[in-house]
Amino acid sequence: MCGRPVPADPSSRGRGSSLAAGGDEPVSPPSLVSVIQQPPPPPPPFHRDTARRANGYWPQRLPAPKACPLFAPSREAYLRAARRVVDACVRYQEGGGETDADTRAAFLLGGAGVYAVAALVYRALGLPDFARPLGKFRELCEVCAPLSFLECGSDELFVGRAGYLCAALVLKQRLGMEVLTPAQIKSICLAILESGKQYAVKKRKPFPLMYSYYGTEYLGAAHGLSSILQMLLSYYEYLQPADQELVWQSVDFLMDQEQNSNWPPELGETIERENELVHWCHGAPGIAYLFAKAYLVSKKPQYLDTCIRCGELTWQKGLLKKGPGICHGVAGSAYVFLLLYRLTGNSKYIYRAQRFAEFLFTEEFKAGSRALESVYSLYEGFSGTVCFLTDLLQPNQAEFPLFSVFV
Ligand SMILES: [Zn+2]
Repeated sequence: MCGRPVPADPSSRGRGSSLAAGGDEPVSPPSLVSVIQQPPPPPPPFHRDTARRANGYWPQRLPAPKACPLFAPSREAYLRAARRVVDACVRYQEGGGETDADTRAAFLLGGAGVYAVAALVYRALGLPDFARPLGKFRELCEVCAPLSFLECGSDELFVGRAGYLCAALVLKQRLGMEVLTPAQIKSICLAILESGKQYAVKKRKPFPLMYSYYGTEYLGAAHGLSSILQMLLSYYEYLQPADQELVWQSVDFLMDQEQNSNWPPELGETIERENELVHWCHGAPGIAYLFAKAYLVSKKPQYLDTCIRCGELTWQKGLLKKGPGICHGVAGSAYVFLLLYRLTGNSKYIYRAQRFAEFLFTEEFKAGSRALESVYSLYEGFSGTVCFLTDLLQPNQAEFPLFSVFV
């Protein structure tokens, strides 16, 4: 899903959609406008792809339609559509979910995401039973507590423990309360730390924490070290001082892996100019969020400086041909400018984000962009793009969907 083959990653099996005319046509601005203006059609119940679609549509952006004048008249219609989608997802999940992988505790690709989004949608609709999916979400803590609960790697963002913590962070932000107990949060953080320590020792790494996903030692935001460390920093106060020190050592180790303002997808790779990836999922536009969080926690200027270098590289190389999305598309690149605007207050970053947004509507983009498989997807499709365009209208509240550093 992220510009590199990831064996057996469920997100790489996305289906086509009617909006893409069977997936053969390039992305077009009218399609994007139609996505902004219309609620999605209800998905078929128990469809294999339903959970992914629901995770990728309106529900996560409830504050946006609530706060943005453009969406206010349609807010109730969007919420009703969101409920149709999320109800189907909950039924699917309670019916057993995916049969070929344990994605019960996955945030972006499975059960934790379904229950988190359901709680947000039901709460926004004023439904009293929003507590039920919250209870289901809490129960998943036991699923991801065992050190190696997933064979492919138990700690990354999309299916692993970092994702579960990320979901809890979103719920805390949107509901205004901590949904996990301190003991639950500490147990998940300790499992991530212990898993990383054991892997680093086993592989004789000269640094304290490392992880792999399907046998690859990723560094970037999608499946790699940076988003795992970002989540540990998001729960910094729950870590013991010795573990806090291990996290900082790992952050500084990752900072040392920089190659001309970018990072290779895998540990130890050398970036080749012709194959350089400048995506949220792999590279500077995603790793920037770790250094933003590190700066916000520590106030050390070197982390902000690194983040700014990520933004400069993205300005030079971030107009991608892989679609409009936030994973490895134009909106994902542009979000780093909105992050930098919030960190620095410098309006040049608004200018840059606006130019990237304009590019989405050009003939050059339309002609050169890759066709989409998962048109509704939050990460690969238009949903994330809509979030970005919405955030452009309110840059003081902008944040990469479900991945805030400001909680
Ligand atoms: Zn990607």
